[in-house]
Amino acid sequence: MVKRRALITGSSRGIGSAIAHKLKELGYLLLTPARNELDLSSNESIDHYISILKDPVDILINNAGINPLASITDISDINIESTLQINLIAPMRLIKNLAPGMIDRHYGRIINISSIWSSVSKEKRVIYSSSKAGLNAMTRSVAVELARYNILINSIAPGFVNTELTKQNNTEKEINIIKEKIPIGRLAEPEEIAETVAFLCSDKNTYITGQTIIIDGGYTCL
Ligand code: NAP
Repeated sequence: MVKRRALITGSSRGIGSAIAHKLKELGYLLLTPARNELDLSSNESIDHYISILKDPVDILINNAGINPLASITDISDINIESTLQINLIAPMRLIKNLAPGMIDRHYGRIINISSIWSSVSKEKRVIYSSSKAGLNAMTRSVAVELARYNILINSIAPGFVNTELTKQNNTEKEINIIKEKIPIGRLAEPEEIAETVAFLCSDKNTYITGQTIIIDGGYTCL
């Protein structure tokens, strides 16, 4: 089997860490830069990281994301800009820079970690929802442009996953209420998201592109 190389953002914990473990177990070569090597809040950092990349990247997993809670009337400029930068502009910049190599090699798999809040929403999620809806839109546009080069790109939209981000934005009491509203009756584990990522970024995925795949235990079916 050809050893494919995957670049995963935000792999220090949570969903990104589970994706890195899964892909390592499957034999992929990994690039898992820490924030001091690749800071997505800075375009200079992104450009520098790209400029020192020596090896080809076959798979890009845009996983890192932030979700500062604020309603439309009191969201700060800094939160608007940093959320759009990290959740949307950084993934677009990475794709823009890595796609030419994928085009040359006639192979690429790109996964954007979106959210159910890209299609439905909740109070104080205005900037998060906007950034993730943008990510889904970018997924569709890039899919149309790059499919002819065997570059397939998809978004995954998790519901509630058992990570620090979920604990940061919801109290234990709120999490218990959420669990009752999820048909499966519990949060997702990060490893359950990683399973779908592993399929979509593998050679087994030969025809799915431009899609947003919801993994939410049935939450948005209600
Ligand atoms: P998490 O536990 O908070 O981890 C976030 C990761 O992103 C960390 O590795 C963090 O690195 C990295 N990161 C944040 N800002 C960064 C920056 N400026 N530059 C580089 N890396 C940065 O989050 P998670 O719950 O695993 O979420 C991962 C993705 O899934 C996000 O895109 C999130 O929106 C999405 N998602 C999560 C849920 C959920 O329920 N948890 C649901 C739907 C979607 P550091 O270690 O340096 O902080």
